[in-house]
Amino acid sequence: MDTHFHFLFALIFLALATPIAFANDPSPLQDTCVAVNDSKYGVFVNGKFCKNPKLATADDFFFAGLDIYGNTSNRLGLAVNPVTVDQLPGLNTLGLSMSRLDFAPYGLNPPHIHPRGTEIITVLEGTLYVGFVTSNPDNRLITKVLNKGDVFVFPIGLIHFKYNKWKTNAVAIAFLNSQSAGVITIANAVFGSKPSISDDVLAKAFQLDKKVVDYLQAQSWGDN
Ligand code: MN
Repeated sequence: MDTHFHFLFALIFLALATPIAFANDPSPLQDTCVAVNDSKYGVFVNGKFCKNPKLATADDFFFAGLDIYGNTSNRLGLAVNPVTVDQLPGLNTLGLSMSRLDFAPYGLNPPHIHPRGTEIITVLEGTLYVGFVTSNPDNRLITKVLNKGDVFVFPIGLIHFKYNKWKTNAVAIAFLNSQSAGVITIANAVFGSKPSISDDVLAKAFQLDKKVVDYLQAQSWGDN
């Protein structure tokens, strides 16, 4: 028997011997991954291909620039400088990424979700009012005011926000337990989808007049 068979027998033995079943699907690393039968039509396998390890260099594991203040001259007063597998190829398959967040006075990281990652942040400068909402049916809001050096965690998949409701700038560093945690900004996804979701759907779902829905859909939502 080759080692594969030994491994298989060990797995079967464990499955039979353990009273508790541990079953996990692998966490997806992209929004969609439609199965195809012909590899000719394949693009990525679970995120990115791997470079031959012999060809890897120090720069593959290196990123510079998180000391730089982000440009917060935008509607939200927010700058996000992400370091995901797209910026740091050495993160591939490691289940980790980070980002720097700059807030102008009254800057907002609006309600959003990371579909593939839990986020932990620490404040380097200023003060942030942060919070997340638990899932149905409780929808409990959990909030905290964070000062320099404070740490807060936003559990995977829950709507959360960070608001600098003070007159000074704020800077935070975030870590996520995915090489590509993804972001769904609630307002952008709901009111800024391309093409638009029917205003009948949104009026009913959000208990809004259709005129309000049309107004919201006409706004510029950007891509953050
Ligand atoms: Mn977040």
